Amino acid sequence: MKPLIIGNWKMHGSLAKNAALLQAIVAHCDAQKADWVVCPPFPYLSQAQSMLEDTGIAWGAQTVSAFSQGAFTGQVDASMLLDFGVSFVIVGHSERRHGLGESNIYVADSAKLVIEHGMNAILCVGETLVQKEAGQLETVLQEQLLSALKQIAPENAKNLVIAYEPVWAIGTGKTASQEDILKAHTLIKNILKEKDANFYNSVRILYGGSVKPDNASQILTILYVDGLLIGGASLDPQAFSEIGQCKPSF
Ligand code: PEP
Repeated sequence: MKPLIIGNWKMHGSLAKNAALLQAIVAHCDAQKADWVVCPPFPYLSQAQSMLEDTGIAWGAQTVSAFSQGAFTGQVDASMLLDFGVSFVIVGHSERRHGLGESNIYVADSAKLVIEHGMNAILCVGETLVQKEAGQLETVLQEQLLSALKQIAPENAKNLVIAYEPVWAIGTGKTASQEDILKAHTLIKNILKEKDANFYNSVRILYGGSVKPDNASQILTILYVDGLLIGGASLDPQAFSEIGQCKPSF
């Protein structure tokens, strides 16, 4: 199976910079070698749609409201994303859980709406350094996953992607060790198995946290790692394409 490689551009970009980045991504990311998704900020979804349509590269949003259309100033509803051809939506990124106070319930409700609208939810889970050091990895993963799985019908499991992103590894240059990644991904796989065979068989599990071209291929060999969620390096088309092993260099 091809790895799923997702770029989270976070709050970066401009029309001009994105045009150059998207053009390079289209030129160098080979859809035969990986499934590619890029997630620009909301205002640039239409630019991504016009530049990526029919290229084999998908585009996604970085978050979505847990509510349907109504009086929610500043929020974006799942149905609006469909107008821009969005097929993936990141929910529960740690910068939103820990930086903006999104709760497990809010994240679970967002994931539910994404999937009900026929899109794929990329559910981010992971422990902080304090939680890691306190030996709370399993508890944190269970709480974050079970609250979301409760809201998703097992027959929709193929629309769910889980991204294990240890908070201490995001944007810090500290990648989790192979042992850390294997341990977390095995715990996630077991939680999925206990919940339903469809979840166990169909949900893809990505790793995210300071992935770069020099550590990506090793991480992709770890058991139960089905792909990668890339932040910083996804803004560099050469690094992004190398990470997905589409073209070693250009
Ligand atoms: C992310 O934003 O999800 C992420 C993994 O960031 P970085 O690759 O920069 O650590």
